[in-house]
Amino acid sequence: MSRKKIGYRTGRTLLLILAIVVTGLGPRAEQRSSFINNAAELTIVHFTDTHLSTLSREAKKTKTPWTHKFSVDGYKLHHKVLGRSKALLEKAVRVTNRIIKPDVVILTGDVVDKAHDRRAFKEAAAQLNRIDAPVLLVQGEHDASDNNNYYHTFFGDFNRTKRIKGFRFFLLPQKPDESRLQNLEEKLADPDARSPLILATHRMLYTSTLMKTLSNLYTSASLVPPRREAILRTLNRARKPILVLCGHSHTNYRECRDNIHLLSTSSLVEYPHELRLIKIGENGRIRTRLYPLSEFSSEEELQN
Ligand SMILES: [Zn+2]
Repeated sequence: MSRKKIGYRTGRTLLLILAIVVTGLGPRAEQRSSFINNAAELTIVHFTDTHLSTLSREAKKTKTPWTHKFSVDGYKLHHKVLGRSKALLEKAVRVTNRIIKPDVVILTGDVVDKAHDRRAFKEAAAQLNRIDAPVLLVQGEHDASDNNNYYHTFFGDFNRTKRIKGFRFFLLPQKPDESRLQNLEEKLADPDARSPLILATHRMLYTSTLMKTLSNLYTSASLVPPRREAILRTLNRARKPILVLCGHSHTNYRECRDNIHLLSTSSLVEYPHELRLIKIGENGRIRTRLYPLSEFSSEEELQN
């Protein structure tokens, strides 16, 4: 073989290796699709704390400082890139429709950043209406206002379906009163519902001590809801497996205790801009994976 030919071949191999290293799409993309395409009894996409903002003063926030790439016990110093909130929500919707094609999409609150931002509610509703699957959502503190009813005006049409493929879904508000909890307890007893029951709520029901301490240091809001103990007692009395999905802490967290399997997902508007895919298999087995939106980089793939 001529020296020229060897040089050409080596060059070509080096280019190929470089392409794989640079894009990182080789085995990773395969792994990604294998979980997405895995058969399941129920496929859920969970994304949360989208904090959609149309306020001009927030438009400049488009970069994440490098320090926020690190987390302590899952807790990150919060930095919302509100200037990209609309683009991130749009991409999450496209990935959901074009690639994942789930049975249901769940959003656990803080859909908008400011409750007086009427345009944000309108744009969020327009985006969520594009989703081909049923959309279930609960209200976070950022969506709630004493001065307007935008949340109900724009999101009132969601949450139409509460039973999908035999699985039952429950939406728990921030501060459920006694009668609401009693009503929940009665509904949890449904003998025909498949396992697990699925409950969406904004705040976490379990958290780690370290996460709680850090959150107290940096933010004023508690990670858990005001009536946490009463909520837990109600859920425990069901004596059936319950998958609880939540947001609020902007961190990924998983804890299984008693009959509760809790999954908290980080905020879509914070690095690394993830959504969570959950697959429920036969016998109610729960499997989950997180996907940064950057994993879906090919526009061609998203347009198919
Ligand atoms: Zn939030």
